[in-house]
Amino acid sequence: MPATDDAAPSGAPDAAFRLPRTVEPRTYRLTIAPDLAAATFTGTVEIDLTVHEPVTEIVCNAAELALAEVSVEGPGGTRLDATVELDEAAERATFRLSDPLGAGEATLRCTFDGVLNDKLRGFYRSTFTDQSGTTRTVATTQMESTDARRAFPCWDEPDRKAVFEVTLVVDEGLAAFSNSPVADEAVEGGTRRVRFAPTMKMSTYLVAFVVGPLEATDPVDVEGVPVRVVHAPGKGNLAPFALEVAAHALRFFTDYFAIAYPGDKVDLVAIPDFAFGAMENLGCVTFRETALLIDPATAARTELERVALVVAHELAHMWFGDLVTMRWWEGIWLNEAFATFMETLCVDAFRPGWEVWVSFGISREAAMALDDLHSTRPIEYPVGSPAEADGMFDLLTYEKGCSVLRMLEQFLGPDRFRDGVRAYLTAHAYANTVTADLWDALESVSGEPVRAVMDSWILQGGHPLVTVGPDAVTQEPFAYGPAPAGAPSAIGDRWQVPVLVRTLHGERVPPGATERHLLGPDPVPIPPPPADGGARVVNAGGWGAYRTAYGPGELVELVGRLADLATLERFNLLADTWALVLADRAGPGALLDLAAGLGDDGDPSTWALVVGALTLCDRVVAAADRPALQAAVRSLLGPRFERLGWDPGAGEGERAPSLRALLLQALGTVGADPAVRAEAARRFDGTGGGPIAPDIESAVLQAVAAQLRPGDYEAVYARYRDPATPQEELRYLNALAAFPDADLAVRTFELCRSDEVRTQNAPYLVAVLLANRVGGPAVWERVKSNWDELLARFPVNSHSRMVEGAKALCGQRSTSDDVTRFLTEHPVAHSERTVVQMLERLAVNTGFGERNRPQLGAVLAGAGGAAGADRP
Ligand SMILES: [Zn+2]
Repeated sequence: MPATDDAAPSGAPDAAFRLPRTVEPRTYRLTIAPDLAAATFTGTVEIDLTVHEPVTEIVCNAAELALAEVSVEGPGGTRLDATVELDEAAERATFRLSDPLGAGEATLRCTFDGVLNDKLRGFYRSTFTDQSGTTRTVATTQMESTDARRAFPCWDEPDRKAVFEVTLVVDEGLAAFSNSPVADEAVEGGTRRVRFAPTMKMSTYLVAFVVGPLEATDPVDVEGVPVRVVHAPGKGNLAPFALEVAAHALRFFTDYFAIAYPGDKVDLVAIPDFAFGAMENLGCVTFRETALLIDPATAARTELERVALVVAHELAHMWFGDLVTMRWWEGIWLNEAFATFMETLCVDAFRPGWEVWVSFGISREAAMALDDLHSTRPIEYPVGSPAEADGMFDLLTYEKGCSVLRMLEQFLGPDRFRDGVRAYLTAHAYANTVTADLWDALESVSGEPVRAVMDSWILQGGHPLVTVGPDAVTQEPFAYGPAPAGAPSAIGDRWQVPVLVRTLHGERVPPGATERHLLGPDPVPIPPPPADGGARVVNAGGWGAYRTAYGPGELVELVGRLADLATLERFNLLADTWALVLADRAGPGALLDLAAGLGDDGDPSTWALVVGALTLCDRVVAAADRPALQAAVRSLLGPRFERLGWDPGAGEGERAPSLRALLLQALGTVGADPAVRAEAARRFDGTGGGPIAPDIESAVLQAVAAQLRPGDYEAVYARYRDPATPQEELRYLNALAAFPDADLAVRTFELCRSDEVRTQNAPYLVAVLLANRVGGPAVWERVKSNWDELLARFPVNSHSRMVEGAKALCGQRSTSDDVTRFLTEHPVAHSERTVVQMLERLAVNTGFGERNRPQLGAVLAGAGGAAGADRP
């Protein structure tokens, strides 16, 4: 059933959550003095206001702050006394005035104080251990979505843009950073007053201050914009790669948008404790350390790719988000989807050999797998409360949103798309927009019905299955099965589907031969299959965000010509087939046949789909059939791994290391390949000569953990305690969750409850532990018995991430029933939809197991034989 509300989702937001518009802020003069030792801060603020009509009270946002010394200066310098009342539930401060305040300009003054919390939001405390072993403290901010109100009283809504003049008062020995460059500073009595230049007009959620014993690199000049990396002392050697990416990205975006960088400088700041990946505060972008600080000599290529993507993503926001901002939080999807699109475009130009658009296929598939559930949601929906805005930061916003933008870009053509984006940004600079503003700009540049097409993709959940008939294509909503009893389905009804079609004859047809169609409710004619026995490729190029089903004859033809497909077309064929298997419209053998035909395919994403399917089989297969599964893994993946080898070959592609790691890990774990396990152990023990190559270290650790040799857990733990880079630390931490043993899994779980694992990492590690096939059920018991403590301990945004690991607990009906019961009785605030989605996915996984378990051993044995026959 269509989930779309007829009211435009960009219409009037719920008034209960909006501040009155009678008074608007223009400029904040903000002075803040944090006391890092006491974990408190004090501040004063002067807010220049425009009063649109006479008022007797002024209402703004404030939370967890004590406000005092309030006064208001009205037009002509008249002074009014005021009292202030805080409503903590509504997170509002109401200033009641002694006399009515007339229309015109006014200034509100007050002092405030608050606590530097340890919840990684608002103005909070982060700590690290310096080179002498001393614990040091950093005070830093994370304002998005609505936590600026925890740092200072403000109009904390994205369309209340204002100028910010920030002064930080800090201990003489500490560094201080904010959105703009330092205007002047003075030292007196051991205290430093750092006054920053006024910012451009911007939203409160972009304000940042960072204070601590931090260092900055020398600035790199990028067309007049100074760019630095700010880091804990001793980590400057990990900064050059991020600086190189940032310089590329600033030039790339300036050119793409045809608008100069809107700020005055760029500081990229590594924060030891950070709830998200990074945050696009104008000119003062904050990151978790693994997303910024990296040594190319010791990093895996995928780790470098992540840093490049995150840096590019945040810098894209300087234009799309910071310069032009969503009017209200339902627009967050466009903000994030577009930054995800631009990060990929930018990094594709930075390192073409990484083929990041092809790698994005696996991210898109993760979003589509979520979007296949009845509990999906429209990309855009009306948002009232801040808590609802928090629920938007998920795969559907970032990855599905990016996928539909990429589909549109490929349909319109990259130049027309870019021109529309330029027109949109130029028209709305320093202002706020709704989603339709972008469609209108693209529509006027391209002359295509952009708004009608895109509304069908963003205002309803799900996506179509496009069926390829003898002479036409048709669409229907795709789902794994009927909606669960009593639950509504958010999957839509019909879409405006941009369909690209090409035909395979004896040899690959040049790209120019692609036909373009817009498929609506009625069938659209396409040419019949070629008379010479070829096949038609629907979703040519692979950028349509929908699934495709071919008739049996054409599917056989395509399976026989996998090498003639473009990488993403091949990837989609496997992904769509696997989705049809999970929907019980095909048997698991259909995917295994495709996997057996991959041969020398070099795309890690395509192989990752195969590994994902085999991993689900591993979770549900009967114990007696596990040897057949292991044999199938070895025969499907082994030959490809043998041809790659353990060490890089001369002239191999830049993505080959990722494929090597993927296959090595699968063979060493679910494949139980004795030779791979032995070599992994030899390299881990250091008897293989030299350190383990960074690209395969995580995979080697997994293959070692799988063997449960005495002492290995302790050895990995020791390496975790003494890493050389943030990436190494994370590799060892994740390996601690990989040992297939209930006691060791519980031991790692207990680390998550201690200071040994930062709360920025612990929830993700719990998710990995829940997905540990052997240890997961024991960890689940611990999660239940420590539930309240875990929720209180971990940042709010990560609660759903922790719980998501439970979708892997699908091997036993009793366990999955228990997970469902417990999470239904213990809802997770801010994440209810994510939990419902996880439970539906768990039901899909469990259903797959119950349906297929009786014959799975035989099917896998057949796959092993078929692929084995191709072995050289
Ligand atoms: Zn973002």
